[in-house]
Amino acid sequence: MPQSVDELKTRAEQAELSDVSTDQSVCGNCRFYAEMVEGIGYCSHRAVDMVVGEPWWCKFWAAKD
Ligand code: SF4
Repeated sequence: MPQSVDELKTRAEQAELSDVSTDQSVCGNCRFYAEMVEGIGYCSHRAVDMVVGEPWWCKFWAAKD
């Protein structure tokens, strides 16, 4: 079933998703990020679960193993 914009907005807010990062922690080097095309990937964290940008950040960031 398609995700509604309201659902996505709620998850983005709860994750404190931001299109900028204040340090070296970005979606592009997070364990949950899977690149789709250059600069754009999919976040598989269950609390996010949406398309994100490589330079973005959220509070669930975690280093790769
Ligand atoms: S968990 Fe957060 S930092 Fe990591 S890819 Fe998803 S949105 Fe980006």
